[in-house]
Amino acid sequence: MDFSLSDEEQLFQKTVHDFLKDNLAPIARDIDNDHRIPEKLLHGMGEIGLLGATIPEKYGGQGGSITMATLGAMEIGAADPSMATAVYYLLVTGWSHLASKLGTEELRQSLLPKVAAGREFLGIATTEPGGGSDLAAMKTNAKREGKRLILNGEKIYISGVSEAKRMGGGHLTLMKTDPSLKHKGLTFAYVPINSKGIETTVLENMGRMGISTGIVSYRDVDVVKENIIGEYNRGFFHAMAGFNYARTLVSAACVGAAQWALEVGAEYIKRRSAFGSTLARYEGVSFEFADLAVQVEMVRNQVMKAATLLDAYDSGKNVPMKDINIAVSASKLTAPPLALDTIKKVMMWHGALSYTKDTYLEMAMRGILSYVVGAEGALNIMRLVIVRDLLGPEFLPYR
Ligand SMILES: Cc1cc2nc3c(=O)[nH]c(=O)nc-3n(C[C@H](O)[C@H](O)[C@H](O)COP(=O)(O)OP(=O)(O)OC[C@H]3O[C@@H](n4cnc5c(N)ncnc54)[C@H](O)[C@@H]3O)c2cc1C
Repeated sequence: MDFSLSDEEQLFQKTVHDFLKDNLAPIARDIDNDHRIPEKLLHGMGEIGLLGATIPEKYGGQGGSITMATLGAMEIGAADPSMATAVYYLLVTGWSHLASKLGTEELRQSLLPKVAAGREFLGIATTEPGGGSDLAAMKTNAKREGKRLILNGEKIYISGVSEAKRMGGGHLTLMKTDPSLKHKGLTFAYVPINSKGIETTVLENMGRMGISTGIVSYRDVDVVKENIIGEYNRGFFHAMAGFNYARTLVSAACVGAAQWALEVGAEYIKRRSAFGSTLARYEGVSFEFADLAVQVEMVRNQVMKAATLLDAYDSGKNVPMKDINIAVSASKLTAPPLALDTIKKVMMWHGALSYTKDTYLEMAMRGILSYVVGAEGALNIMRLVIVRDLLGPEFLPYR
């Protein structure tokens, strides 16, 4: 498989790298402390085409590839290892990509230019208090009333609740529209957070403090037909397609954070001395470094493979969906734990210094953990997808 970058992708990567080095890396700690990504930064990300990377040009984006968006995610994960900016980016990028493919023309025109400019937020709302992995068991429901849906229920652990309220925007929301059909009776629709009948509560997280996570309650909320994504009752399948984009970007951000940690670690072990020699001369440390460098490169290749397959699929090539599902799930299964492991080992090399806020390592560990415990899909769910697509659906435990 050819992972060489086109001229356009290389230029995009350099532009993004330079922009983030000057505008994001110096304020990553402030974002964590202030619990807020500055709007000036989001507008700047919009201006260089980072937020609209894959949104078609006629809706204000760059019309770029998923590979481009993946390169952007790696750069952001390295510049703000708290993950807050990466979360913002991958949500608006992954889910606007789906909206630009499956949304109505009205929705594309009204939403995508603002999202691409960093002036409105777009996220995803599937998880409920009863659980996030078993989507077919969800309780949030919508009843048809004329051409509208009337939405009732509650979602939890939803990223970007405060951002959407403050900036405008909302979430692609999964709702039960035919309870008798289980996962074949779900519909996916854009729900602006400032709609009548919505109440929100913000939860207190342990990490990625620059972006909020909260509860969204719906009471008789109107969902207009223009906001339905794809086909009525096909929402489960549309959401799964969207997760393939978003999980690739999550994995890329984790690779970026792991690479960043490795570079911080390399700098430190080359200059810190103990017992008359630098740490990098002790094999107990340098072999760990070598193993991590190899693993980061392997996972980077896995993520690039997922992005390449998604681009091939998007451009109409005959790519088996199983190959995409496996490549994406393998990325989400390996990248967050590897980033966590890398950060932890680099902390060990730093000794007591790593337990202070004089490095970004503790902030990175708090942020990455969100992707290990569940955000954008639990790791065992990645394993279930791989089992289903390699062994066959008859080997899933719940059949
Ligand atoms: C910081 C953060 C932000 C988030 N943002 C969003 C968001 O924006 N939108 C949104 O919709 N959700 C969001 N989530 C929720 C996330 O999608 C869920 O955490 C995830 O889907 C898992 O659901 P759960 O946490 O309810 O765990 P559960 O589904 O209850 O699972 C608990 C554990 O059981 C395991 N498990 C479940 N089923 C099986 C099985 N069949 N076999 C083996 N093991 C199994 C899982 O791997 C997991 O470890 C966020 C989560 C976090 C932590």
